[in-house]
Amino acid sequence: MALRIIIGLVLTVIAAVIAGRRLWWLVRLGRTGQPAPERVASLREHPGQGAETQVTQVIGQRKLLQWSVPGIAHALTFWGFIVLILTIIEAYGDLFSRHFAIPLIGTWAWVGFLEDLFAVAVLVGIITFAIIRLRNNPRREGRSSRFAGSHTGAAWIVLLGIFLVIATLLIYRGAQINTGDFPYPKGAFASQIVGHWLHPLGAANMGIETTFVLLQLAVILAFGIFVTYSKHLHIAIAPLNVLFARRPNGLGPLEPMRSGGKVLDFEEADPDEDVFGIGKIEDLSWKGMLDLATCTECGRCQSQCPAYYTGKPLSPKMIILELRDHAFAKAPYLLADSDDARAALPDAVKAEAERPIVGDEEAHGVIHPDELWSCTNCGACVEECPVDIEHIDHITGMRRHQVLVESAFPAEAATMLKNLENKGNPWGMGENKRLEWIAELDFEVPVVDGPIGDEVEYLFWVGCAGALEDRAKKTTKAIAQLLHTAGVSFAVLGPAEACTGDPARRMGNEFVYSMLAQQNIETLNEAGVKKIVASCPHCFNTIAREYPQLGGNYEVMHHTQLLARLVADGRLTPVSPIEEKITYHDPCFLGRHNRVFTAPREIMEQVPGVRAQEMHRCKERGFCCGAGGARMWMEERIGKRINTERIDEALGTDPDTISTGCPFCLVMLGDAVAAKKGSGEAKESLEVVDVAQLLVRSVQVPATVGAAAPVPDTAPEEPAAGTAEADGPAPE
Ligand code: SF4
Ligand code: SF4
Repeated sequence: MALRIIIGLVLTVIAAVIAGRRLWWLVRLGRTGQPAPERVASLREHPGQGAETQVTQVIGQRKLLQWSVPGIAHALTFWGFIVLILTIIEAYGDLFSRHFAIPLIGTWAWVGFLEDLFAVAVLVGIITFAIIRLRNNPRREGRSSRFAGSHTGAAWIVLLGIFLVIATLLIYRGAQINTGDFPYPKGAFASQIVGHWLHPLGAANMGIETTFVLLQLAVILAFGIFVTYSKHLHIAIAPLNVLFARRPNGLGPLEPMRSGGKVLDFEEADPDEDVFGIGKIEDLSWKGMLDLATCTECGRCQSQCPAYYTGKPLSPKMIILELRDHAFAKAPYLLADSDDARAALPDAVKAEAERPIVGDEEAHGVIHPDELWSCTNCGACVEECPVDIEHIDHITGMRRHQVLVESAFPAEAATMLKNLENKGNPWGMGENKRLEWIAELDFEVPVVDGPIGDEVEYLFWVGCAGALEDRAKKTTKAIAQLLHTAGVSFAVLGPAEACTGDPARRMGNEFVYSMLAQQNIETLNEAGVKKIVASCPHCFNTIAREYPQLGGNYEVMHHTQLLARLVADGRLTPVSPIEEKITYHDPCFLGRHNRVFTAPREIMEQVPGVRAQEMHRCKERGFCCGAGGARMWMEERIGKRINTERIDEALGTDPDTISTGCPFCLVMLGDAVAAKKGSGEAKESLEVVDVAQLLVRSVQVPATVGAAAPVPDTAPEEPAAGTAEADGPAPE
């Protein structure tokens, strides 16, 4: 007995020292990151949300269970280990007394039953994981495996470790039954089966029990050490990462630029002193560092990424892993406490410390520029990640540094940035062009000139595309027509409207974004605007969720939300049938980023004759059109075009029409359809339209309005002069 105690305690102390040293090293590394007081403040302000995510996402495994088979396997393993904490207590108790039982509950049959049930559940879980890993073997499946790039060897070691934990547990419990030391007279069905197998060994069961109690502890302790050195660290830190994640999630608005935890003031900021985005690994906040350490390498994000799917070099998983590997390799440099200590470091560490965070092969960068600039900010990675890693924040942080400090970004986007600065729109068109669509209507649209007063309910935020791009202008006219028909009082800013700044911000140019945003907020506040309806999801997201960061607070709706409400209230009545099969494409910044999934579908449901057909990738799992993240203004040179991939999927539903709710999706999908028509892969009659265009075709327009109303048609038009197509850097 004494030997049993000594071996057990010595093993525990050794494991605690090794694991403790590693954890302390990780904590020190995390503390080299920037402060993130906003995360702590957010948790203080919303403790209920923090608790809710711990219950639903950590304990309830909500995000993991969205992938049914691996989700159930993970949940069984996770819940199993929670229950099996009881067996670890029992194993330690057994070191000191063969007859140990947990006080009060330690002999209850249902406790023994639960322990065995979850031991078996864990076995089922790891067998399922093994099958999943064999079927998704990156060596065979290549890039299409979600485990491509993951450290698969470590995963197999962990599966083996878990198997040994359960095997040693059941063997020592089975032996205990034969020695009469087992605390549960009934209920522990699996242990009883093993005990039955071991029964013929007679007195040897005594030795088996001692050996396997010690082996059980040794395996658990070795597993505990391995966890701190591998991706399985997530077992310990995923709850923390979820606790300090953005609320409600890492989608929607971007975070303001911060230096030392404070929001950066461009008028006072000094690029030599302040942190400008992520230019080196220690520019990440401690939460960013925690993200890196938490990644489970599951590859869910990678499997949903449109850039990765279409053959681009970007994988959100690999961004996290590359940053993590770099952080770990640079750690001795970051943790050295003096210049002398740094000078004494091995050359490999010093070389790692010199690596630029973004750079091509020649510069030996951690992240290749082609990875960085392939991101469409679609949010599929953030949506999927079971441990709430915020990929878009990291990508944007690196873009900010590249644009603001290094002036290194795709050359074709420079024109867009210059146009935003000089003309307030990406195409560089004159501000009076913003009024041209109004002249094509047969009713007056008030243009704001001073305070709008109570008689105007909504400010219709038209957006640059809606005002200046020919295809998007048809949506704008349809919305205006519908609002007019429904008797909604609205006005537009006309020439006073400038780009919200979204393309600049998503590209990383926070300076141009804040200039445009402040200008717009000033205009809106001077006009006394309270309610805004926006036709572009990017404008919608920016005004509703990013302008409050700069003091612009408005009630903002997307046009599909307002139109759905007008239909529901009977103020718009779709009557003319549209006998077509229609598939709806979810714009990322309307759907995934802002959870507007039902309004556009409700409108389509109300149009007589429409047969809606969902694409396989829809709603939360919608597939990007390729325009977000300022990709609209960059060439797509690598891999398959994202819009072509999306249209290939849409064509699988054999649609007569493809509908959407975003001017940029309209352009991207329209371009891909035009190309498909050119190659004979799509029927000539196939159209891409906004939901508002569908509705206006069906709505009973009052004779006085409707007779002469130029109901927008959907025939393709030549792009306006100065559009992306005309300027050269065409998205398609
Ligand atoms: S935001 Fe979209 S494109 Fe960017 S890394 Fe994530 S999934 Fe890929
Ligand atoms: S970032 Fe999240 S989804 Fe992607 S591999 Fe890591 S844990 Fe999985």
